[in-house]
Amino acid sequence: MSPIEQILAKLAARPVAPLHEEGVAEVVRGVLGDAGVPYSLDPFGNIIAHYRAGTPRVEFCLVAHMDHPGFEVARAGPDRSEAVVLGGVARSGLSAGTRLRLSTSRGWAPATVAALAPLRRDGRSPRFTFTTDETVGPDDWGVWELPDFEERGELLHLRAADDLAGCAVILATMAELAARGLAAGVYGVFTRAEEIGLVGASLMAKRQTIPTTAIVISLESSRHLPGAELGKGPVIRTGDLRRTFDHEAERYLHAGRELLDEMEPPLPVQRQLMYGGTCEATPFGAFGYRATGIALPLGNYHNQGADGSLEAEFIHRADLAGALALVLATIERSADPLTDGYGQLIERRIKAYRKRLCATAAPAMVGGQHHDAH
Ligand SMILES: [Zn+2]
Repeated sequence: MSPIEQILAKLAARPVAPLHEEGVAEVVRGVLGDAGVPYSLDPFGNIIAHYRAGTPRVEFCLVAHMDHPGFEVARAGPDRSEAVVLGGVARSGLSAGTRLRLSTSRGWAPATVAALAPLRRDGRSPRFTFTTDETVGPDDWGVWELPDFEERGELLHLRAADDLAGCAVILATMAELAARGLAAGVYGVFTRAEEIGLVGASLMAKRQTIPTTAIVISLESSRHLPGAELGKGPVIRTGDLRRTFDHEAERYLHAGRELLDEMEPPLPVQRQLMYGGTCEATPFGAFGYRATGIALPLGNYHNQGADGSLEAEFIHRADLAGALALVLATIERSADPLTDGYGQLIERRIKAYRKRLCATAAPAMVGGQHHDAH
């Protein structure tokens, strides 16, 4: 396994749900500590790492979320307990007999879905009842019983590729920057409670904890689409379900992509509007940041298998490695002033054709006016 895959496997060994991110957060802090990258916590428990060396022209803020859909106990009972779903999950995950992994005060315990509670019409999260041999407490929570991390050829299957893969890209980036001592300024942000409405990121963006001059890059695993396919490289994300991202921020990614194009063989990069969901670039954009994103094409989004079954999510190894390469290339290229290759091309075309357009415009106009006059 490559170093980034090792980081991902370590993260994935810690089941996680919205508001219950401590296991993943511990691994994040450990990797940052080993790499010698300083970090702090904001008042909401988001982790903010900051690498800075030299006098960077621009600072980046890489953002990923630590949580994944799960559930927490709403009512503990002697025979059956009731749980409330946190985030979106495959419908089959709520049907009787589905196996769960429950976090209790005494450790992990197996549990089983008993029945789906009647859905409420007020749009509130679904609830279900479950049984377990363990004593259930009101603070308990859990996840669906799926593989933490499995290598299957070129694919990595995980319960929570969304968004532990994004976290792994940021951690591998910070470790690489620190190891190479590269002149750069990069924040690595690991947020909480994304799956229940991008809450950690929104609180942080509103508070403007990170300087608003930073270029924000969301790192997300996002439902694969035509034009954003597994194994064809990381995706420069032009927007999400809600918002079109920032053009200037995206230009930094294009500068990085040029470096990957020059490699032998070139590393492929895709570009697409990922409308399958909303990512954390959106709250940052809404609160005044120049924000863009990189997506990893994701299979079995939110554990929904092809036939509606509950499955592990999966990503392609090449896309994970490619996302790291694209982020590092983007940071490296930012040492040079941002050039506008397409703007220069437009100017050349204007220069080449302006005279001819003027010369051939007059007869039609005169004809039109002549016709109108009668
Ligand atoms: Zn996500």
